[in-house]
Amino acid sequence: MEPMIRCNACKKQIKSENGILKEDVFVGYKEWGYFSNKDLQIDHFYLCEECYEKMIKNFAIPVQRIEKTEVL
Ligand SMILES: [Zn+2]
Repeated sequence: MEPMIRCNACKKQIKSENGILKEDVFVGYKEWGYFSNKDLQIDHFYLCEECYEKMIKNFAIPVQRIEKTEVL
């Protein structure tokens, strides 16, 4: 059984069929290191597209967006 994936911000269940995600999500993964106060801590979370947009709207500097012209 695949573990159910939920958006960490709004708890929305991410649609999946037979273990394949049918909805794209933002995956946050960070291994904090020596120069942080969270040494050896690993943070992992998912954000649905809607919550991702809400998060980046709060950025002082907009995210860098690169248009992919072809799939490599
Ligand atoms: Zn969400």
